Amino acid sequence: MLQVGINGYGTIGKRVADAVAAQPDMEVCGVSKASPDFGADGAVRRGYTLYSAREDRVSAFREAGYEVAGTSEDLIAESDLVVDATPGGIGAENRPRYEAAGTPAILQGKESDSLVDTSFNARANFEDAEGAEYVRVVSCNTTGISRLVSPLEEAYGVEKVRATLVRRGGDPDQTGRGPINDILPDPITVPSHHGPDVNTIFPDLSIDTMGLTVPTTLMHMHSLNIELESDPTSAEVRELLAEESRVFVVDDGLAIDGTGKLRELARDRGRPRGDLWENCVWGESINVQDSELYLFQAIHQESDVIPENVDAIRAMTGLAGRDESMAITNESLGIGLPGARERSAITSPAP
Ligand code: NAD
Repeated sequence: MLQVGINGYGTIGKRVADAVAAQPDMEVCGVSKASPDFGADGAVRRGYTLYSAREDRVSAFREAGYEVAGTSEDLIAESDLVVDATPGGIGAENRPRYEAAGTPAILQGKESDSLVDTSFNARANFEDAEGAEYVRVVSCNTTGISRLVSPLEEAYGVEKVRATLVRRGGDPDQTGRGPINDILPDPITVPSHHGPDVNTIFPDLSIDTMGLTVPTTLMHMHSLNIELESDPTSAEVRELLAEESRVFVVDDGLAIDGTGKLRELARDRGRPRGDLWENCVWGESINVQDSELYLFQAIHQESDVIPENVDAIRAMTGLAGRDESMAITNESLGIGLPGARERSAITSPAP
């Protein structure tokens, strides 16, 4: 069993830990936190061994009644691989510590691409991370765009991507970001930094992006216009995307008209924390006119990168190739939301 340490147990770290724990070929050897807050309580309740991010915080954990097995230095030494899910910029500070310990590590989207052997999206470039020591799982928005571009490029060729990203103001626990009542061009400069980030996965892709931030915690929303090299019908594109395991084509019959209902659907389906690991593409929005594809997709910022972290672990350690890894991850987490079209396959229990 591969021993995976989770350094940084917040929004992303706690979800990665649960996803790793659900896999048949890896286990969580410990999680490291900076402070003894409700997250530490949750980690202990889930049975994870707790480490303190810093030596000078060990006493704070002990005073709050937590057993700590050591510092993140100890966790790094005991892990076969570390997933670093610390706040943006701390991963860069941690990078030399992983190197000193000889422990491969995965960094997250806020860290620079220059710190790693490759940026990563399972569908698009799994092979680039095979045998790599340092990998960056790209941001939630870049993950969402990469999952879409990959099959479109394979099937039709992509001339140009134009995306407007309507971004959530903060995650539900980020009280410091609000309350807000505003719409911000973010960044004000155009194009935004998101396009160059997608280029860390698709170096030759022509892409321009613009960003806005709005007062919601639920999800991001992407408005996309993609120039294709050939001219499929809207129905063909819809079928293509429906075949993708990490794209949920939102069926008209579900009557889902916004991100609130998407999250409610996830809760109704018993998803942990109401997570939506898939891109949620509105089927009705898929429209091709003269080789130009238009669509809306919603991205759950807290969870779409979680299966990608699991697949990055397998790519780096050679536990499985792309298709096998994605299939194991999908199966173990329960990825793949049936829509209204598949409803006829679900039989009602006898009264
Ligand atoms: P977060 O603030 O929710 O969690 C970070 C955790 O790290 C906290 O528990 C904090 O106590 C802990 N921490 C702080 N300093 C530490 C240290 N020195 N050592 C160990 N732990 C430390 O942050 P997050 O939202 O989970 O983001 C983590 C990374 O994931 C960032 O790079 C972010 O850009 C990326 N990411 C976030 C999202 C999102 O929407 N939240 C989506 C995709 C990627």
